[in-house]
Amino acid sequence: MDRYGVIGDPIDHSLSPVIHHQFLFEANIEGEYRKILIPRSDLEKGIQMLRREGIKGFNVTIPHKEAIIPLLDEVDETAIQIGAVNTVVYKNGKFIGYNTDGYGFIRALKTVVKNLTGMKIAVIGAGGAARAVYFSLYKENVERIDVANRTIENARRLIGKYSPENFSEALSLEQLYDRMGNYDLIIQTTPVGMYPNVHELPISLNCLKKGTIVFDLIYRPLETEFLALAKKKGAIVENGINMLLYQAARSFWLWTGIDPDIESARKKMMKQLKGA
Ligand code: NAP
Repeated sequence: MDRYGVIGDPIDHSLSPVIHHQFLFEANIEGEYRKILIPRSDLEKGIQMLRREGIKGFNVTIPHKEAIIPLLDEVDETAIQIGAVNTVVYKNGKFIGYNTDGYGFIRALKTVVKNLTGMKIAVIGAGGAARAVYFSLYKENVERIDVANRTIENARRLIGKYSPENFSEALSLEQLYDRMGNYDLIIQTTPVGMYPNVHELPISLNCLKKGTIVFDLIYRPLETEFLALAKKKGAIVENGINMLLYQAARSFWLWTGIDPDIESARKKMMKQLKGA
């Protein structure tokens, strides 16, 4: 029996077991994928326990995505650039860290826009998910990526990490509000509007222009108030579901070498999400 799982705290809400059990089933792999609660202060002990258990791979979620980096034997270049690991593979006695969020994001984005060349983009938020989004977009020949954040200093730090001058600007949320009409694509990466605080908005959308693509990484609820408003304003919208499925598929591929079909996992997951 091959063992996989996801570590985090809290972990009860995770949908990863639903997705990965479906992937395992379809690949005819006899395996289990479980939720593993590891408190922030017990990460090192937790990793040792997983090693003793002979786990073949695991996902990493809040609050461990950054803290795990120095505890691994090797870390892939993309994960180092993003500064966060969400997937660990056990290979030849080593735990190796990867980040599949950026991959999942780009795959999901390309279901709504095939060619990103020349696009003007605004990212809302400057946390771990924003770094994965920024880094993956940065490699896609886009025209500019501005980052707007509640704490502008964190946006400055994010763009300072990656970008040449004149490619990105750090903005306050008020500045983004004023300039919203300048962007082709707006990506919402904060947890604002996520269940149970479903009536919260990260920023008002009064100035959104028709035809803008608006991507909200949140998938619980399936349609945040932010996305509902964007739709009303004539935007093309995308929620976090495809990104979640594609980042999971990439993790599965790293563990097994199999690129799973996401459609039956999507059906299983939608059942779980109904009513959220
Ligand atoms: P994080 O590292 O904690 O980043 C949080 C970001 O949100 C920071 O920029 C923070 O601003 C901002 N923020 C938090 N609360 C805010 C508020 N009340 N008002 C305005 N800004 C606020 O979190 P993360 O790991 O990046 O995750 C962010 C979201 O992405 C979560 O909802 C997560 O579920 C989602 N996500 C989805 C996927 C997917 O597959 N669909 C994958 C990864 C993440 P400050 O800098 O001012 O604190």
